[in-house]
Amino acid sequence: MKSIIAKVRRLVDRYIISETFKFKYALTIYAIGGVHVFLIFLFALFRVYPMVILNVGSVAMYLYCIRVIKYGYDEELIKTFYLTYLEIIMHSFAATLFVGWHFGFAQYIIGLIPFGYYMCVTMINNDKKYLIATMLGFGASVSFIGCRILSAFVGSFYQVSVSPAVEVLIYIFNSICNFFLLFMFTLIFVIDIQITEKKLHNQNIILDNMASTDPMTGLYNRRSMQAFLEHAVASGEPFCLIMCDIDNFKRVNDTYGHDFGDIVIKDIAQIITQEVKDFGHVCRWGGEEILILCNGRLDKSLPIAENIRRNVEKHSFSNRELTIHCTLTLGIATHMENSKVEETIKHADERLYYGKQNGKNRVVSAYDTA
Ligand code: GH3
Ligand code: MG
Ligand code: MG
Repeated sequence: MKSIIAKVRRLVDRYIISETFKFKYALTIYAIGGVHVFLIFLFALFRVYPMVILNVGSVAMYLYCIRVIKYGYDEELIKTFYLTYLEIIMHSFAATLFVGWHFGFAQYIIGLIPFGYYMCVTMINNDKKYLIATMLGFGASVSFIGCRILSAFVGSFYQVSVSPAVEVLIYIFNSICNFFLLFMFTLIFVIDIQITEKKLHNQNIILDNMASTDPMTGLYNRRSMQAFLEHAVASGEPFCLIMCDIDNFKRVNDTYGHDFGDIVIKDIAQIITQEVKDFGHVCRWGGEEILILCNGRLDKSLPIAENIRRNVEKHSFSNRELTIHCTLTLGIATHMENSKVEETIKHADERLYYGKQNGKNRVVSAYDTA
């Protein structure tokens, strides 16, 4: 049983999920055309020659549709569906009038409803597609009832003399073909919805990422940091803010160029991210200033800040031609309960400024400035 399910899954994956719309559509048209080839022989057997001729015409039409699907422009595809729609309705009327309602040829009209919705929604590129699909569905429903009424009033032109068992068999054959059409298009619809949902979800993740991060460094941007700060304040848990600024960075830009300056910012962003890891959030606050939200008290964030300072100092910033060294100054402030986060940022900024005034390449906390 498991191997059968696995095989069905592989088939669904191969023919319904992976393949293109054109492939799926061509497969459907081949199947419908194939049924008509079978019907040519069936009606010949019953000696209902007008239906034989009609089915030969239908097969020719489906061959034309296959040609359009394979070689035509995408805009022509919907026309092949309209042809198929008309053919199925005409065939159902003709078969009902020639051999009678009880053979079940009119059932195919029902399958046209999901088929029509799928084709219109997939192939038409304007807002009218739902209206067109609904009108086609309505047309199919009216045709189905029309077939029944017509057969009740007019009867059938031919009296096919087959046993009741054969009659039932033909009815069942038509039912199976029609249900296959119904199931297939419902399944394709559901799978397409799932695929679209998945795509949308992935695109949302990409968009979210783009909206919340700085493209150059990959760090969070100021907007997302604001959200983290609000969350940290609301949680009531202790946290510290570390404001970092690269020392003498203007000189780096002026001496080695803006592009090299970018390399320095990116490398420093990476060093900080590695050091902070899961202890908090890192954001590009502006220019070459980086703000770190560090969970926990000062005893936890101070060593992190010191490690960052040391690792930046040790790091060789290089491109193919040159290698330089840079340093970083960091100011730390502990967030006090009931105070505003802007105050804490200001304190971190003040300590950073103090560090800049007192030799740079250092970590400044409340102890130093007190
Ligand atoms: P200090 O040690 O006092 O911080 O001196 P500084 O030269 O680093 O001065 P400041 O921090 O004011 O310098 C900021 C410079 O950073 C100015 C600006 O040109 C540069 N900068 C800002 N953003 C970028 C960027 O994305 N790429 C590059 N290459 N430079 C940037
Ligand atoms: Mg600066
Ligand atoms: Mg600077």
